[in-house]
Amino acid sequence: MNLAELQALERRYLIQTYRRSPVEFVRGEGALLWDSGGREYLDFLAGISVCSVGHCNPAVVEAVREQSGRLMHVSNLFYTGPMARLAERLSESSLGGRVFLSNSGAEANECAIKIARKHAHRRGIEAPEIVSFEGDFHGRTYGALAATPALAVNPDLGPMLPGFLSVPLNDAAALRDAVGERTAAVLVEPIQGESGVHPVTDEALLAAREACDAAGSLLILDEIQTGIGRTGSLWAYEQTPVRPDLLTSAKALGGGLPVGACVTSAEAGEVLEPGDHASTFGGGAVVAAAALAVLKIVDDSSLLRRVRELGAELRDGLLALDGVVEVRGRGLMLGVGLEEGIDSATVCGDLLERGLVVNAPEPRTLRLLPPLTVDSAQIERAVALIGGSLLSYAAR
Ligand SMILES: *Cc1c(COP(=O)(O)O)cnc(C)c1O
Repeated sequence: MNLAELQALERRYLIQTYRRSPVEFVRGEGALLWDSGGREYLDFLAGISVCSVGHCNPAVVEAVREQSGRLMHVSNLFYTGPMARLAERLSESSLGGRVFLSNSGAEANECAIKIARKHAHRRGIEAPEIVSFEGDFHGRTYGALAATPALAVNPDLGPMLPGFLSVPLNDAAALRDAVGERTAAVLVEPIQGESGVHPVTDEALLAAREACDAAGSLLILDEIQTGIGRTGSLWAYEQTPVRPDLLTSAKALGGGLPVGACVTSAEAGEVLEPGDHASTFGGGAVVAAAALAVLKIVDDSSLLRRVRELGAELRDGLLALDGVVEVRGRGLMLGVGLEEGIDSATVCGDLLERGLVVNAPEPRTLRLLPPLTVDSAQIERAVALIGGSLLSYAAR
Protein backbone atom coordinates (compact mmCIF):
# COMPACT_ATOMS: atom_id res chain seq x y z
CA MET A 1 0.00 0.00 0.00
CA ASN A 2 1.49 3.38 -0.95
CA LEU A 3 1.07 6.58 1.06
CA ALA A 4 -1.84 7.86 -1.04
CA GLU A 5 -3.75 4.59 -0.55
CA LEU A 6 -3.03 4.66 3.17
CA GLN A 7 -4.28 8.24 3.39
CA ALA A 8 -7.48 7.29 1.54
CA LEU A 9 -8.06 4.39 3.93
CA GLU A 10 -7.47 6.61 6.97
CA ARG A 11 -9.82 9.29 5.60
CA ARG A 12 -12.55 6.73 5.02
CA TYR A 13 -12.30 4.69 8.23
CA LEU A 14 -10.74 6.77 11.02
CA ILE A 15 -12.82 9.41 12.78
CA GLN A 16 -11.19 12.58 11.56
CA THR A 17 -9.83 14.04 14.80
CA TYR A 18 -6.18 14.34 13.74
CA ARG A 19 -4.19 16.36 11.21
CA ARG A 20 -1.40 13.97 10.28
CA SER A 21 1.81 14.77 8.42
CA PRO A 22 2.19 12.96 5.09
CA VAL A 23 4.60 10.21 6.10
CA GLU A 24 4.23 6.55 7.04
CA PHE A 25 6.75 5.40 9.62
CA VAL A 26 7.57 1.72 9.66
CA ARG A 27 10.61 1.33 11.91
CA GLY A 28 12.42 3.07 14.77
CA GLU A 29 15.68 2.63 16.65
CA GLY A 30 17.03 5.04 19.28
CA ALA A 31 16.52 8.59 18.00
CA LEU A 32 16.01 7.43 14.39
CA LEU A 33 12.89 6.61 12.38
CA TRP A 34 12.48 5.17 8.89
CA ASP A 35 9.54 5.72 6.55
CA SER A 36 8.00 3.24 4.13
CA GLY A 37 10.31 4.50 1.37
CA GLY A 38 13.39 3.62 3.45
CA ARG A 39 14.19 7.26 4.24
CA GLU A 40 15.85 8.00 7.63
CA TYR A 41 14.66 10.73 10.01
CA LEU A 42 16.08 12.13 13.21
CA ASP A 43 13.23 12.10 15.73
CA PHE A 44 13.21 15.15 18.02
CA LEU A 45 9.59 14.60 19.08
CA ALA A 46 9.78 10.98 20.35
CA GLY A 47 6.07 10.36 19.88
CA ILE A 48 5.33 13.49 21.99
CA SER A 49 7.78 12.66 24.77
CA VAL A 50 6.74 9.00 24.91
CA CYS A 51 9.80 7.21 23.49
CA SER A 52 12.21 8.88 25.92
CA VAL A 53 14.46 5.83 26.17
CA GLY A 54 14.61 5.70 22.36
CA HIS A 55 12.54 3.75 19.86
CA CYS A 56 12.47 0.02 20.53
CA ASN A 57 14.86 0.28 23.47
CA PRO A 58 16.26 -3.27 23.79
CA ALA A 59 15.63 -3.49 27.57
CA VAL A 60 11.99 -2.45 27.13
CA VAL A 61 11.49 -4.77 24.16
CA GLU A 62 12.95 -7.65 26.17
CA ALA A 63 10.76 -6.90 29.24
CA VAL A 64 7.64 -6.82 27.03
CA ARG A 65 8.64 -9.95 25.16
CA GLU A 66 9.33 -11.85 28.38
CA GLN A 67 6.17 -10.75 30.23
CA SER A 68 3.84 -11.08 27.24
CA GLY A 69 5.02 -14.64 26.70
CA ARG A 70 4.24 -15.55 30.31
CA LEU A 71 1.13 -13.63 31.42
CA MET A 72 -0.57 -10.59 29.89
CA HIS A 73 -3.68 -9.88 31.91
CA VAL A 74 -5.74 -11.18 34.82
CA SER A 75 -7.52 -7.96 36.01
CA ASN A 76 -7.22 -6.16 39.32
CA LEU A 77 -9.27 -8.84 41.07
CA PHE A 78 -5.94 -10.62 41.63
CA TYR A 79 -2.29 -9.91 42.47
CA THR A 80 0.49 -9.64 39.90
CA GLY A 81 4.12 -8.78 40.60
CA PRO A 82 4.90 -6.03 38.03
CA MET A 83 2.13 -3.64 39.17
CA ALA A 84 3.17 -3.82 42.83
CA ARG A 85 6.86 -3.36 42.00
CA LEU A 86 6.02 -0.44 39.68
CA ALA A 87 3.93 1.27 42.35
CA GLU A 88 6.77 0.81 44.86
CA ARG A 89 9.27 2.31 42.46
CA LEU A 90 7.06 5.32 41.61
CA SER A 91 6.25 6.03 45.24
CA GLU A 92 9.79 5.61 46.56
CA SER A 93 11.17 7.88 43.83
CA SER A 94 8.76 10.71 44.65
CA LEU A 95 6.01 11.37 47.19
CA GLY A 96 6.18 8.21 49.31
CA GLY A 97 2.45 7.49 49.38
CA ARG A 98 0.34 5.21 47.18
CA VAL A 99 -0.18 4.83 43.43
CA PHE A 100 -3.17 4.26 41.14
CA LEU A 101 -2.17 2.80 37.77
CA SER A 102 -4.11 3.82 34.67
CA ASN A 103 -3.76 3.54 30.90
CA SER A 104 -3.20 7.16 29.90
CA GLY A 105 -2.42 10.63 31.13
CA ALA A 106 -6.00 11.84 31.10
CA GLU A 107 -6.99 8.90 33.29
CA ALA A 108 -4.15 9.60 35.72
CA ASN A 109 -5.56 13.11 36.07
CA GLU A 110 -9.11 11.75 36.50
CA CYS A 111 -7.85 9.81 39.50
CA ALA A 112 -6.17 12.92 40.93
CA ILE A 113 -9.39 14.92 40.44
CA LYS A 114 -11.40 12.22 42.22
CA ILE A 115 -8.97 12.19 45.15
CA ALA A 116 -9.07 16.00 45.36
CA ARG A 117 -12.88 16.11 45.29
CA LYS A 118 -13.29 13.36 47.88
CA HIS A 119 -10.63 14.96 50.07
CA ALA A 120 -12.61 18.23 49.85
CA HIS A 121 -15.93 16.55 50.70
CA ARG A 122 -14.31 15.08 53.80
CA ARG A 123 -13.44 18.64 54.80
CA GLY A 124 -17.11 19.62 54.41
CA ILE A 125 -16.81 21.35 51.04
CA GLU A 126 -20.04 20.76 49.09
CA ALA A 127 -19.05 22.14 45.70
CA PRO A 128 -15.27 21.65 45.42
CA GLU A 129 -13.30 23.67 42.90
CA ILE A 130 -10.09 22.91 41.03
CA VAL A 131 -7.87 25.77 39.92
CA SER A 132 -5.51 25.58 36.92
CA PHE A 133 -3.50 27.98 34.79
CA GLU A 134 -4.71 29.26 31.42
CA GLY A 135 -2.76 27.31 28.79
CA ASP A 136 -2.67 24.16 30.90
CA PHE A 137 -3.34 20.84 29.18
CA HIS A 138 -4.55 17.94 31.30
CA GLY A 139 -6.21 15.61 28.78
CA ARG A 140 -9.38 14.97 26.79
CA THR A 141 -11.71 13.04 29.10
CA TYR A 142 -14.40 15.26 30.61
CA GLY A 143 -12.72 15.84 33.98
CA ALA A 144 -9.30 16.47 32.48
CA LEU A 145 -10.93 18.52 29.72
CA ALA A 146 -12.68 20.77 32.26
CA ALA A 147 -9.21 21.51 33.69
CA THR A 148 -7.90 22.40 30.21
CA PRO A 149 -9.17 25.98 29.79
CA ALA A 150 -8.44 26.44 26.08
CA LEU A 151 -10.39 23.30 25.10
CA ALA A 152 -13.17 23.41 27.72
CA VAL A 153 -14.73 26.37 25.91
CA ASN A 154 -15.89 24.29 22.92
CA PRO A 155 -19.70 24.70 23.12
CA ASP A 156 -20.29 21.64 20.92
CA LEU A 157 -18.93 19.42 23.70
CA GLY A 158 -20.96 20.92 26.56
CA PRO A 159 -22.15 20.87 29.21
CA MET A 160 -18.76 20.80 30.93
CA LEU A 161 -18.13 19.40 34.38
CA PRO A 162 -18.66 22.20 36.93
CA GLY A 163 -16.12 23.18 39.57
CA PHE A 164 -13.13 24.20 37.46
CA LEU A 165 -11.57 27.64 37.10
CA SER A 166 -8.36 29.10 35.75
CA VAL A 167 -6.11 32.09 36.26
CA PRO A 168 -3.49 33.58 33.90
CA LEU A 169 -0.22 31.64 33.76
CA ASN A 170 2.26 32.73 36.44
CA ASP A 171 -0.12 35.30 37.95
CA ALA A 172 0.69 34.51 41.59
CA ALA A 173 -1.69 37.15 42.95
CA ALA A 174 -4.62 35.86 40.86
CA LEU A 175 -3.84 32.33 41.98
CA ARG A 176 -3.84 33.35 45.66
CA ASP A 177 -7.20 35.10 45.10
CA ALA A 178 -8.69 32.06 43.37
CA VAL A 179 -7.75 29.59 46.10
CA GLY A 180 -10.14 29.72 49.03
CA GLU A 181 -12.50 27.74 51.20
CA ARG A 182 -14.07 25.89 48.23
CA THR A 183 -10.76 24.86 46.68
CA ALA A 184 -10.15 21.13 46.45
CA ALA A 185 -6.89 21.44 44.55
CA VAL A 186 -4.60 23.46 42.37
CA LEU A 187 -3.82 21.33 39.31
CA VAL A 188 -1.01 22.63 37.07
CA GLU A 189 1.78 21.50 34.77
CA PRO A 190 5.23 22.55 36.08
CA ILE A 191 6.11 23.41 32.47
CA GLN A 192 3.17 23.70 30.08
CA GLY A 193 3.89 21.34 27.20
CA GLU A 194 1.04 21.27 24.69
CA SER A 195 0.56 25.05 24.77
CA GLY A 196 4.17 25.57 23.64
CA VAL A 197 6.65 24.90 26.48
CA HIS A 198 5.87 27.67 28.96
CA PRO A 199 7.49 27.14 32.38
CA VAL A 200 5.70 28.04 35.60
CA THR A 201 7.85 30.42 37.64
CA ASP A 202 9.14 29.39 41.07
CA GLU A 203 7.21 32.34 42.48
CA ALA A 204 3.90 31.06 41.07
CA LEU A 205 4.59 27.50 42.25
CA LEU A 206 5.39 28.77 45.75
CA ALA A 207 2.20 30.85 45.71
CA ALA A 208 0.25 27.72 44.76
CA ARG A 209 1.90 25.66 47.52
CA GLU A 210 1.28 28.35 50.16
CA ALA A 211 -2.31 28.97 49.08
CA CYS A 212 -3.05 25.22 49.15
CA ASP A 213 -1.50 24.87 52.61
CA ALA A 214 -3.51 27.82 53.93
CA ALA A 215 -6.78 26.50 52.45
CA GLY A 216 -6.17 22.83 53.29
CA SER A 217 -6.35 21.89 49.61
CA LEU A 218 -4.06 19.69 47.53
CA LEU A 219 -1.35 20.72 45.08
CA ILE A 220 -1.41 18.42 42.05
CA LEU A 221 1.43 18.58 39.55
CA ASP A 222 0.70 17.11 36.14
CA GLU A 223 4.10 15.62 35.24
CA ILE A 224 2.76 13.60 32.33
CA GLN A 225 5.08 15.43 29.93
CA THR A 226 7.72 16.82 32.32
CA GLY A 227 8.33 13.62 34.31
CA ILE A 228 10.46 10.50 33.68
CA GLY A 229 13.68 12.46 33.29
CA ARG A 230 12.53 14.85 30.57
CA THR A 231 13.79 18.00 32.33
CA GLY A 232 17.00 16.48 33.72
CA SER A 233 15.61 15.19 37.02
CA LEU A 234 13.31 12.19 37.35
CA TRP A 235 10.46 14.58 38.23
CA ALA A 236 10.40 18.24 37.24
CA TYR A 237 9.28 19.32 40.72
CA GLU A 238 12.69 18.27 42.10
CA GLN A 239 14.16 21.37 40.41
CA THR A 240 11.48 23.68 41.88
CA PRO A 241 10.97 24.91 45.44
CA VAL A 242 7.74 22.90 45.90
CA ARG A 243 6.67 19.34 46.58
CA PRO A 244 3.16 18.41 45.44
CA ASP A 245 0.59 16.28 47.29
CA LEU A 246 -0.18 14.36 44.10
CA LEU A 247 1.63 13.93 40.84
CA THR A 248 0.47 12.35 37.62
CA SER A 249 2.62 10.53 35.10
CA ALA A 250 2.08 8.82 31.74
CA LYS A 251 3.64 9.36 28.28
CA ALA A 252 7.29 8.22 28.70
CA LEU A 253 6.45 5.98 31.66
CA GLY A 254 5.55 3.01 29.44
CA GLY A 255 8.40 3.43 26.93
CA GLY A 256 5.84 3.38 24.09
CA LEU A 257 3.09 1.34 25.76
CA PRO A 258 0.05 3.02 27.35
CA VAL A 259 0.48 3.38 31.10
CA GLY A 260 -0.33 6.21 33.48
CA ALA A 261 -0.02 6.72 37.21
CA CYS A 262 -1.39 8.95 39.92
CA VAL A 263 1.15 9.09 42.77
CA THR A 264 0.16 10.46 46.18
CA SER A 265 1.66 11.74 49.40
CA ALA A 266 1.12 9.53 52.45
CA GLU A 267 -2.00 11.50 53.47
CA ALA A 268 -3.60 11.69 50.01
CA GLY A 269 -3.05 7.95 49.59
CA GLU A 270 -5.70 7.27 52.24
CA VAL A 271 -8.56 9.06 50.45
CA LEU A 272 -9.89 6.56 47.89
CA GLU A 273 -11.40 3.26 49.10
CA PRO A 274 -12.68 0.12 47.38
CA GLY A 275 -15.45 1.08 44.97
CA ASP A 276 -14.28 4.67 44.45
CA HIS A 277 -12.19 4.01 41.36
CA ALA A 278 -11.05 1.20 39.06
CA SER A 279 -9.63 0.33 35.66
CA THR A 280 -9.83 -3.01 33.87
CA PHE A 281 -6.46 -2.65 32.19
CA GLY A 282 -4.75 -0.45 34.80
CA GLY A 283 -1.47 -1.90 36.03
CA GLY A 284 -1.55 -4.73 33.49
CA ALA A 285 1.45 -7.01 33.68
CA VAL A 286 2.94 -6.22 30.26
CA VAL A 287 2.78 -2.42 30.48
CA ALA A 288 3.96 -2.50 34.10
CA ALA A 289 6.95 -4.65 33.10
CA ALA A 290 7.74 -2.12 30.35
CA ALA A 291 7.48 0.78 32.82
CA LEU A 292 9.82 -0.96 35.27
CA ALA A 293 12.36 -1.33 32.47
CA VAL A 294 11.99 2.37 31.60
CA LEU A 295 12.48 3.50 35.21
CA LYS A 296 15.54 1.29 35.55
CA ILE A 297 17.10 3.22 32.65
CA VAL A 298 15.93 6.75 33.49
CA ASP A 299 16.13 6.80 37.30
CA ASP A 300 19.91 7.03 37.03
CA SER A 301 21.96 10.05 38.06
CA SER A 302 24.44 9.82 35.17
CA LEU A 303 21.65 9.66 32.56
CA LEU A 304 19.89 12.60 34.20
CA ARG A 305 23.11 14.63 34.30
CA ARG A 306 23.58 13.84 30.60
CA VAL A 307 20.05 15.14 29.89
CA ARG A 308 20.95 18.46 31.54
CA GLU A 309 24.24 18.67 29.57
CA LEU A 310 22.64 17.76 26.23
CA GLY A 311 19.80 20.18 26.96
CA ALA A 312 22.33 22.98 27.46
CA GLU A 313 24.10 22.05 24.19
CA LEU A 314 20.82 22.05 22.31
CA ARG A 315 19.74 25.36 23.84
CA ASP A 316 23.07 27.06 23.04
CA GLY A 317 23.04 25.75 19.47
CA LEU A 318 19.49 26.98 18.89
CA LEU A 319 20.08 30.40 20.42
CA ALA A 320 22.93 30.97 17.96
CA LEU A 321 20.60 30.52 14.95
CA ASP A 322 19.19 33.41 12.90
CA GLY A 323 15.44 33.49 13.36
CA VAL A 324 15.42 32.13 16.92
CA VAL A 325 14.45 34.74 19.51
CA GLU A 326 14.26 32.60 22.65
CA VAL A 327 14.47 29.04 23.93
CA ARG A 328 12.19 28.05 26.81
CA GLY A 329 12.05 24.97 29.00
CA ARG A 330 14.48 22.74 30.84
CA GLY A 331 16.57 19.68 30.07
CA LEU A 332 15.42 18.10 26.81
CA MET A 333 11.97 19.77 26.83
CA LEU A 334 12.54 22.90 24.77
CA GLY A 335 10.29 25.40 23.04
CA VAL A 336 12.02 27.39 20.31
CA GLY A 337 10.53 30.87 19.94
CA LEU A 338 10.80 32.05 16.32
CA GLU A 339 11.10 35.60 15.01
CA GLU A 340 7.91 37.41 14.11
CA GLY A 341 6.83 36.51 10.58
CA ILE A 342 8.16 32.94 10.71
CA ASP A 343 5.35 30.38 10.78
CA SER A 344 6.32 27.37 12.89
CA ALA A 345 3.97 24.97 11.06
CA THR A 346 5.67 25.80 7.75
CA VAL A 347 9.13 25.29 9.30
CA CYS A 348 7.93 22.04 10.87
CA GLY A 349 6.74 20.72 7.47
CA ASP A 350 10.01 21.78 5.85
CA LEU A 351 12.03 20.07 8.61
CA LEU A 352 10.12 16.83 8.04
CA GLU A 353 11.15 17.00 4.38
CA ARG A 354 14.74 17.58 5.51
CA GLY A 355 14.56 14.52 7.78
CA LEU A 356 13.93 16.04 11.24
CA VAL A 357 10.73 15.33 13.21
CA VAL A 358 9.58 18.12 15.55
CA ASN A 359 6.21 19.76 16.13
CA ALA A 360 4.63 23.20 16.13
CA PRO A 361 2.44 23.62 19.24
CA GLU A 362 1.72 27.30 18.53
CA PRO A 363 2.26 29.66 15.56
CA ARG A 364 5.75 30.88 16.52
CA THR A 365 7.06 27.93 18.54
CA LEU A 366 8.83 24.70 17.59
CA ARG A 367 8.77 22.06 20.33
CA LEU A 368 11.74 19.72 20.73
CA LEU A 369 11.39 16.54 22.81
CA PRO A 370 14.20 14.23 21.63
CA PRO A 371 14.77 10.84 23.26
CA LEU A 372 16.85 11.27 26.44
CA THR A 373 19.32 8.80 24.91
CA VAL A 374 20.16 11.15 22.02
CA ASP A 375 23.88 11.93 21.48
CA SER A 376 25.87 15.12 20.87
CA ALA A 377 26.29 14.45 17.16
CA GLN A 378 22.52 14.08 16.77
CA ILE A 379 21.97 17.35 18.69
CA GLU A 380 24.41 19.08 16.32
CA ARG A 381 22.67 17.56 13.30
CA ALA A 382 19.25 18.75 14.51
CA VAL A 383 20.53 22.28 15.15
CA ALA A 384 22.08 22.36 11.65
CA LEU A 385 18.82 21.15 10.06
CA ILE A 386 16.77 23.79 11.93
CA GLY A 387 19.34 26.46 11.00
CA GLY A 388 19.14 25.45 7.33
CA SER A 389 15.36 25.53 7.36
CA LEU A 390 15.23 28.98 8.98
CA LEU A 391 17.76 30.30 6.45
CA SER A 392 15.70 29.02 3.51
CA TYR A 393 12.57 30.49 5.12
CA ALA A 394 14.22 33.91 5.29
CA ALA A 395 15.28 33.59 1.63
CA ARG A 396 11.75 32.94 0.37
C1 LIG B 1 -0.28 14.29 27.03
C2 LIG B 1 -0.70 14.96 28.28
C3 LIG B 1 -1.87 14.61 28.95
C4 LIG B 1 -2.85 13.60 28.41
O1 LIG B 1 -2.30 12.34 28.28
P1 LIG B 1 -3.08 11.23 27.39
O2 LIG B 1 -2.25 9.99 27.59
O3 LIG B 1 -3.09 11.73 25.99
O4 LIG B 1 -4.44 11.11 27.96
C5 LIG B 1 -2.16 15.25 30.14
N1 LIG B 1 -1.34 16.19 30.64
C6 LIG B 1 -0.19 16.55 30.03
C7 LIG B 1 0.69 17.57 30.65
C8 LIG B 1 0.16 15.97 28.82
O5 LIG B 1 1.27 16.36 28.19
